[in-house]
Amino acid sequence: MRLRNIPRAEGTISAHPAVIKRPEDQRGCWKQVFGNKHPIRIEIGMGKGRFLLNMAKQNPGINFVGVERYSSVLLRAIEKYDTEEFNELKNIRFVCMDARKIDEVFAPDEVDRIYLNFSDPWPKARHAKRRLTSVEFLERYENVLVPYGTVEFKTDNTELFNFSLEQVKEAGWTLQSFTYDLHHNEEMNKGNIMTEYEEKFSKKGNPINKMIAVRKQEGTEL
Ligand code: SAH
Repeated sequence: MRLRNIPRAEGTISAHPAVIKRPEDQRGCWKQVFGNKHPIRIEIGMGKGRFLLNMAKQNPGINFVGVERYSSVLLRAIEKYDTEEFNELKNIRFVCMDARKIDEVFAPDEVDRIYLNFSDPWPKARHAKRRLTSVEFLERYENVLVPYGTVEFKTDNTELFNFSLEQVKEAGWTLQSFTYDLHHNEEMNKGNIMTEYEEKFSKKGNPINKMIAVRKQEGTEL
Protein backbone atom coordinates (compact mmCIF):
# COMPACT_ATOMS: atom_id res chain seq x y z
CA MET A 1 0.00 0.00 0.00
CA ARG A 2 1.32 3.40 -0.88
CA LEU A 3 -0.70 6.52 -0.30
CA ARG A 4 -0.14 9.99 -1.69
CA ASN A 5 2.62 11.69 0.23
CA ILE A 6 1.08 13.58 3.11
CA PRO A 7 3.29 16.47 4.27
CA ARG A 8 1.92 16.46 7.83
CA ALA A 9 2.50 12.70 8.26
CA GLU A 10 6.08 12.92 9.60
CA GLY A 11 5.23 15.69 12.07
CA THR A 12 2.07 14.07 13.39
CA ILE A 13 3.77 10.71 13.75
CA SER A 14 6.85 11.97 15.53
CA ALA A 15 4.71 13.92 18.02
CA HIS A 16 2.39 11.02 18.82
CA PRO A 17 2.88 9.28 22.19
CA ALA A 18 2.01 5.81 20.83
CA VAL A 19 4.73 6.00 18.14
CA ILE A 20 8.15 4.74 19.16
CA LYS A 21 10.58 7.18 17.59
CA ARG A 22 13.90 5.32 17.86
CA PRO A 23 12.72 1.73 18.08
CA GLU A 24 16.26 0.29 18.01
CA ASP A 25 16.84 1.95 21.42
CA GLN A 26 14.10 -0.27 22.89
CA ARG A 27 15.70 -3.53 21.74
CA GLY A 28 15.53 -5.94 24.68
CA CYS A 29 13.46 -3.41 26.70
CA TRP A 30 10.01 -3.69 25.16
CA LYS A 31 8.49 -4.90 28.43
CA GLN A 32 9.48 -1.55 29.95
CA VAL A 33 7.86 0.30 27.05
CA PHE A 34 4.53 -1.25 28.06
CA GLY A 35 5.29 -1.30 31.79
CA ASN A 36 4.26 -4.94 32.21
CA LYS A 37 5.37 -8.49 31.37
CA HIS A 38 2.57 -9.37 28.98
CA PRO A 39 3.49 -11.18 25.76
CA ILE A 40 4.28 -9.00 22.75
CA ARG A 41 2.87 -9.60 19.29
CA ILE A 42 3.65 -7.62 16.17
CA GLU A 43 2.00 -7.05 12.85
CA ILE A 44 4.36 -6.36 9.98
CA GLY A 45 2.83 -4.26 7.21
CA MET A 46 -0.02 -3.11 9.39
CA GLY A 47 -1.50 -0.76 6.80
CA LYS A 48 -4.35 1.33 8.18
CA GLY A 49 -4.40 -0.64 11.42
CA ARG A 50 -7.90 -2.03 11.76
CA PHE A 51 -6.75 -5.58 12.55
CA LEU A 52 -4.21 -4.58 15.18
CA LEU A 53 -6.42 -2.00 16.90
CA ASN A 54 -9.24 -4.51 17.23
CA MET A 55 -6.87 -7.23 18.42
CA ALA A 56 -5.54 -4.86 21.08
CA LYS A 57 -9.04 -3.94 22.16
CA GLN A 58 -10.13 -7.57 22.47
CA ASN A 59 -6.93 -8.75 24.19
CA PRO A 60 -5.95 -6.33 26.97
CA GLY A 61 -3.53 -8.93 28.41
CA ILE A 62 -1.37 -8.89 25.29
CA ASN A 63 0.79 -6.06 23.95
CA PHE A 64 0.79 -5.21 20.26
CA VAL A 65 3.29 -3.39 18.06
CA GLY A 66 2.30 -2.32 14.56
CA VAL A 67 5.13 -2.07 12.05
CA GLU A 68 4.60 -0.11 8.84
CA ARG A 69 7.12 1.14 6.32
CA TYR A 70 5.34 4.25 5.05
CA SER A 71 4.55 7.24 7.25
CA SER A 72 1.59 8.19 5.03
CA VAL A 73 0.03 4.78 5.80
CA LEU A 74 0.97 4.80 9.49
CA LEU A 75 -0.75 8.17 9.77
CA ARG A 76 -4.06 6.49 8.91
CA ALA A 77 -3.59 3.97 11.70
CA ILE A 78 -2.72 6.74 14.15
CA GLU A 79 -5.82 8.67 13.15
CA LYS A 80 -7.91 5.57 13.79
CA TYR A 81 -6.22 5.02 17.15
CA ASP A 82 -7.11 8.60 18.10
CA THR A 83 -10.83 7.97 17.68
CA GLU A 84 -13.08 7.32 20.66
CA GLU A 85 -13.26 3.64 19.84
CA PHE A 86 -9.54 3.03 20.44
CA ASN A 87 -7.84 5.95 22.18
CA GLU A 88 -7.99 4.44 25.66
CA LEU A 89 -5.88 1.45 24.61
CA LYS A 90 -2.65 1.14 26.59
CA ASN A 91 -1.43 -2.07 24.94
CA ILE A 92 -0.50 -0.81 21.48
CA ARG A 93 2.48 1.02 19.97
CA PHE A 94 3.48 1.89 16.42
CA VAL A 95 6.80 1.81 14.62
CA CYS A 96 7.65 3.26 11.20
CA MET A 97 10.38 1.08 9.73
CA ASP A 98 11.30 -1.49 7.10
CA ALA A 99 10.77 -5.02 8.42
CA ARG A 100 14.18 -5.99 7.08
CA LYS A 101 15.56 -4.46 10.26
CA ILE A 102 13.21 -6.31 12.57
CA ASP A 103 16.02 -8.00 14.52
CA GLU A 104 17.70 -4.66 15.15
CA VAL A 105 14.54 -3.54 16.97
CA PHE A 106 13.56 -6.70 18.86
CA ALA A 107 15.91 -8.98 20.82
CA PRO A 108 15.83 -12.81 20.86
CA ASP A 109 12.71 -14.20 22.61
CA GLU A 110 11.09 -10.78 22.76
CA VAL A 111 8.20 -11.50 20.39
CA ASP A 112 5.51 -14.08 20.95
CA ARG A 113 3.77 -13.98 17.56
CA ILE A 114 4.08 -12.21 14.20
CA TYR A 115 1.05 -11.38 12.06
CA LEU A 116 1.43 -10.86 8.32
CA ASN A 117 -1.74 -9.76 6.57
CA PHE A 118 -2.00 -9.29 2.81
CA SER A 119 1.73 -8.71 2.41
CA ASP A 120 3.02 -7.29 -0.86
CA PRO A 121 3.34 -10.17 -3.40
CA TRP A 122 6.53 -9.05 -5.17
CA PRO A 123 5.55 -11.22 -8.17
CA LYS A 124 8.89 -11.11 -10.02
CA ALA A 125 11.14 -14.07 -9.19
CA ARG A 126 14.15 -11.80 -8.74
CA HIS A 127 12.30 -10.01 -5.92
CA ALA A 128 11.37 -13.20 -4.03
CA LYS A 129 13.68 -12.30 -1.13
CA ARG A 130 11.59 -9.20 -0.48
CA ARG A 131 8.45 -11.25 0.25
CA LEU A 132 7.75 -11.15 3.98
CA THR A 133 7.33 -14.95 4.06
CA SER A 134 10.61 -15.77 2.27
CA VAL A 135 13.25 -17.93 3.97
CA GLU A 136 15.30 -14.76 4.39
CA PHE A 137 12.53 -13.11 6.42
CA LEU A 138 11.72 -16.31 8.37
CA GLU A 139 15.36 -16.36 9.50
CA ARG A 140 15.03 -12.79 10.74
CA TYR A 141 11.87 -13.74 12.61
CA GLU A 142 13.75 -16.64 14.29
CA ASN A 143 16.03 -14.02 15.82
CA VAL A 144 13.16 -12.32 17.66
CA LEU A 145 10.51 -15.00 18.31
CA VAL A 146 10.21 -17.07 21.49
CA PRO A 147 11.01 -20.81 20.98
CA TYR A 148 7.49 -21.87 20.02
CA GLY A 149 6.55 -18.51 18.55
CA THR A 150 4.37 -18.42 15.46
CA VAL A 151 3.80 -16.52 12.26
CA GLU A 152 0.17 -16.15 11.17
CA PHE A 153 -0.24 -15.17 7.54
CA LYS A 154 -3.38 -14.29 5.58
CA THR A 155 -3.59 -13.45 1.88
CA ASP A 156 -5.95 -13.82 -1.06
CA ASN A 157 -2.95 -14.29 -3.36
CA THR A 158 -2.73 -18.05 -3.80
CA GLU A 159 0.59 -17.93 -5.66
CA LEU A 160 2.17 -16.05 -2.78
CA PHE A 161 0.48 -18.41 -0.34
CA ASN A 162 1.85 -21.54 -2.03
CA PHE A 163 5.29 -19.94 -2.15
CA SER A 164 4.98 -19.26 1.59
CA LEU A 165 4.01 -22.86 2.42
CA GLU A 166 7.14 -24.01 0.57
CA GLN A 167 9.35 -21.47 2.30
CA VAL A 168 8.09 -22.57 5.73
CA LYS A 169 9.22 -26.11 4.91
CA GLU A 170 12.51 -24.99 3.42
CA ALA A 171 13.30 -22.90 6.49
CA GLY A 172 12.74 -25.94 8.76
CA TRP A 173 9.66 -24.45 10.40
CA THR A 174 6.54 -26.48 11.24
CA LEU A 175 3.24 -25.86 9.53
CA GLN A 176 0.66 -25.95 12.31
CA SER A 177 -2.43 -25.42 10.15
CA PHE A 178 -3.51 -23.90 6.87
CA THR A 179 -6.59 -23.35 4.72
CA TYR A 180 -7.33 -22.08 1.23
CA ASP A 181 -10.71 -20.78 2.35
CA LEU A 182 -10.53 -19.22 5.79
CA HIS A 183 -14.03 -17.82 5.85
CA HIS A 184 -15.50 -21.30 5.32
CA ASN A 185 -13.18 -23.05 7.77
CA GLU A 186 -15.07 -22.95 11.03
CA GLU A 187 -12.16 -23.79 13.27
CA MET A 188 -9.54 -21.45 11.77
CA ASN A 189 -12.03 -18.63 11.30
CA LYS A 190 -13.07 -18.58 14.96
CA GLY A 191 -12.48 -15.06 16.30
CA ASN A 192 -11.08 -13.90 12.95
CA ILE A 193 -10.64 -10.16 12.70
CA MET A 194 -10.83 -8.87 9.14
CA THR A 195 -8.17 -6.51 7.84
CA GLU A 196 -8.98 -3.70 5.41
CA TYR A 197 -7.65 -5.76 2.48
CA GLU A 198 -9.41 -8.90 3.65
CA GLU A 199 -12.75 -7.16 3.54
CA LYS A 200 -12.04 -5.63 0.14
CA PHE A 201 -10.87 -8.86 -1.52
CA SER A 202 -13.43 -11.18 0.06
CA LYS A 203 -16.20 -8.82 -1.07
CA LYS A 204 -14.88 -9.32 -4.61
CA GLY A 205 -15.36 -13.06 -4.10
CA ASN A 206 -11.69 -14.02 -3.55
CA PRO A 207 -11.23 -16.82 -1.00
CA ILE A 208 -8.78 -15.98 1.79
CA ASN A 209 -5.81 -18.25 2.55
CA LYS A 210 -4.36 -18.55 6.04
CA MET A 211 -1.45 -20.43 7.54
CA ILE A 212 0.02 -20.69 11.02
CA ALA A 213 3.70 -21.66 11.14
CA VAL A 214 5.80 -22.47 14.20
CA ARG A 215 9.38 -21.28 14.42
CA LYS A 216 12.22 -23.69 13.79
CA GLN A 217 13.50 -25.04 17.10
CA GLU A 218 17.19 -24.94 17.90
CA GLY A 219 18.85 -28.32 17.48
CA THR A 220 16.38 -29.51 14.83
CA GLU A 221 18.73 -29.06 11.85
CA LEU A 222 18.15 -31.71 9.20
N1 SAH B 1 -2.21 -5.50 6.61
C1 SAH B 1 -3.04 -4.52 5.90
C2 SAH B 1 -2.27 -3.86 4.75
C3 SAH B 1 -1.80 -4.79 3.67
S1 SAH B 1 -0.90 -3.96 2.37
C4 SAH B 1 -4.32 -5.17 5.44
O1 SAH B 1 -4.38 -6.40 5.41
O2 SAH B 1 -5.27 -4.46 5.13
C5 SAH B 1 0.77 -4.34 2.86
C6 SAH B 1 1.35 -3.30 3.80
O3 SAH B 1 2.64 -3.74 4.19
C7 SAH B 1 1.54 -1.92 3.16
O4 SAH B 1 1.01 -0.94 4.01
C8 SAH B 1 3.06 -1.80 3.04
O5 SAH B 1 3.51 -0.46 3.12
C9 SAH B 1 3.56 -2.64 4.17
N2 SAH B 1 4.89 -3.22 3.97
C10 SAH B 1 5.30 -3.90 2.89
N3 SAH B 1 6.58 -4.29 3.02
C11 SAH B 1 6.99 -3.84 4.23
C12 SAH B 1 8.22 -3.92 4.93
N4 SAH B 1 9.29 -4.53 4.41
N5 SAH B 1 8.29 -3.37 6.16
C13 SAH B 1 7.22 -2.74 6.70
N6 SAH B 1 6.02 -2.63 6.07
C14 SAH B 1 5.91 -3.17 4.85
